[in-house]
Amino acid sequence: MNRHDRNYTAFKVFVDNYGSLTGNILDRLLNDSHKLRRDRAAMREAVSMWCEDNSCLRNAGYKIRFDKRCGCSCGCSPGFRVIVNEKDVRNSGYTQLLWLKRGSGGPSSKWLDMSGKETE
Ligand SMILES: [Zn+2]
Repeated sequence: MNRHDRNYTAFKVFVDNYGSLTGNILDRLLNDSHKLRRDRAAMREAVSMWCEDNSCLRNAGYKIRFDKRCGCSCGCSPGFRVIVNEKDVRNSGYTQLLWLKRGSGGPSSKWLDMSGKETE
C-alpha cells in the first residue's frame, strides 16, 4: 500500500441555512435539528457548488461528508468535511492542498450561504 494513500479533511465548510446570522436565537435552538434535517440536502448542494469552483479540488477529487460535530464536539455547529486523498492530491500536482492537512496548518474553515458563496 502506498504510504500516501490516506484521506484527510482539507476544508470544514459551514453553510448558513438561516440566511441571516442575526436570526432569533431561541427560534434557532428550538428548530435547529428539524430545520437541519430538512435543509441538509440543499446545504450539501451549496458545498458541492463551492467545491466545483475550486480547481484544485475539482482536479484532485474530493468527497463531501456531513459531520454533526464538525465545528464543535458538543454538536452546536454541524458542517461538512471536504475530504481529499493524499495520493490523488500528489498525483494531480495540486500539492498546495497538502498544506491543509491537520498539523500543516489545516483544515481550513469556510462559511457559505445557500448559493455556495463565501460569506466571510
Ligand atoms: Zn459547541
